[in-house]
Amino acid sequence: MIRELSLTVCVDLWKKFSRHSSLITHTMWNYRQPTDIRFGVGTRKTLPDVIAKFGGRPVLVTDAGLASMAMTSEVLDLLGPSAILFAEVEPNPTVGTVDKLAETIRGHLGDVVVALGGGSSLDCAKAACSVAIQGGPARKYHSEGVALDSRHLPLIAVPTTAGTGSEVTPIAVLDDPEKGIKAPIAHDNFYPKLAIVDPELTLTVPRHITAITGLDALSHGIEGYWSKNHQPICDLMALESVRLVFRHLSAALANGSDIKARTGMSLAALLGGLGFQLPKNAAVHACSFPLSNKYHMPHGSACAMTLDHFVRFNSESMGERGIALARAAGFAGMNDLADGIAELKAEAGLPTTLREVGVCDNNIDELVKNSFHPIMGNNPREVTPDALRALYLEML
Ligand code: NAD
Repeated sequence: MIRELSLTVCVDLWKKFSRHSSLITHTMWNYRQPTDIRFGVGTRKTLPDVIAKFGGRPVLVTDAGLASMAMTSEVLDLLGPSAILFAEVEPNPTVGTVDKLAETIRGHLGDVVVALGGGSSLDCAKAACSVAIQGGPARKYHSEGVALDSRHLPLIAVPTTAGTGSEVTPIAVLDDPEKGIKAPIAHDNFYPKLAIVDPELTLTVPRHITAITGLDALSHGIEGYWSKNHQPICDLMALESVRLVFRHLSAALANGSDIKARTGMSLAALLGGLGFQLPKNAAVHACSFPLSNKYHMPHGSACAMTLDHFVRFNSESMGERGIALARAAGFAGMNDLADGIAELKAEAGLPTTLREVGVCDNNIDELVKNSFHPIMGNNPREVTPDALRALYLEML
């Protein structure tokens, strides 16, 4: 009887899933998400209970801009009198800042770290939570092939932008200016213990950062979905993330105080992070590294530069899955989706040509060479150096 029942349930589920057959291309996959997630307006106010659970000597990590805002003093108060503040994280955090933060944590005998900010503060804190215990310099784990072991401090991630999804990913993107390398490192240690996603914290994000981070969230949804390593659970989250960006980003750009739009974008960013953290990103992100590193484009803007071009490029290899992606965004097909992204970029005031960010004809070969990060191999259609050169020339 039990066997019969489970067979019926299986057939039922299969029929339901088959209606969404575009979600099924891999038959074996694994899903894992170790970060607890607390989402909603006002959730930051639960920090005192959280901290009591993890330790008594918190270190609050943020950047200088946020340190001067009321939210940082509010959070510092919530963490109690034994908390200290480290506010030296820079955009695109460096391995040197990770070392400084690790030293501060050690000096304070910190036992729990709270990162308040955008992806830069979250990523810097993730790496420092391991380096503080295992010893530095951070560079050896970033670019010199030394493996981290499993020792790390607990991290509570409190995002103040709606873009990177870093609050739920095991990834820290770090810059090593001396070696000229900006690249992600991924380790299980880097999953925050808890993500507190309070959309109210994003109400003060200026318009241009709302634009950049919103396009970053969109890139995660799209790349997680089309990555060769995609799987059905991440697919669902990625598609919903794409839907939410097209539903809420314009409203958040038009009125930064619109809490409904901000909440929609915080959810889009969270789901985008959940959607790509296992499948990993692909060509758009591979190309974003040299654009950020050499041409100093903010991460989301660097992703947006190539996003619509790769939507067109990948359309022929996506078939039914491409139509499902476009439909999630409210379009009939991939080419319409690419047009929609181009319009969104223009509306957001982001650069749309490489010349605008300082790339000239004679930089293209070097840009092509530096774009071949291993995640390029996740792209659904093979990207050859010649194909990428042609795409970059189109963007010039
Ligand atoms: P960010 O953290 O660099 O912050 C950008 C600016 O926004 C800063 O000046 C900051 O002070 C300001 N800001 C942040 N929140 C604000 C608020 N609520 N009100 C007013 N100002 C605010 O920007 P980001 O785009 O969130 O993060 C970018 C970094 O994240 C890059 O280094 C990128 O490579 C990385 N990243 C990481 C992942 C990941 O999975 N770990 C994914 C994507 C990107």
